[in-house]
Amino acid sequence: MGDVRMSDDCIFCSIVAGDIPARVVAETDDALAFLDANPMARGHTLVVPKGHHQRVADLSREESRAVFDLVHDLAPAIEDAVNADAHTIGVNDGPDAGQEVPHAHVHIIPRFERDGGGPIHVAAG
Ligand code: IMP
Repeated sequence: MGDVRMSDDCIFCSIVAGDIPARVVAETDDALAFLDANPMARGHTLVVPKGHHQRVADLSREESRAVFDLVHDLAPAIEDAVNADAHTIGVNDGPDAGQEVPHAHVHIIPRFERDGGGPIHVAAG
């Protein structure tokens, strides 16, 4: 990891720094994946850039690629791990979209056929 911008009062920056515990699923140079503390389904995972940026468009191309490459690789692995049938991938990109943690993150939420499908609101607060 290079010279990464951090925010002192950001919970996801604290997780990236290792200052508060998280159940880490995967890590690359520029991105980290960990289990959501309040999961909407078993295996609900968040993928974050290591640098502090609130919105997806604030990420550099490199950071964006790192985050979405990890989403691409992890989604099928998580689906296998929890025996899910599909997953919802989503971003609440900005407070007016329901973003509660102001550090960009992608939700990977396993979905199960027995739950009947249909749209869900990712981590609606
Ligand atoms: P948002 O509404 O898209 O910002 O979603 C924030 C997500 O972060 C929610 O699903 C929370 O359950 C999750 N979350 C908040 N604090 C923590 C934490 O300390 N560890 C893991 N997940 C967290």
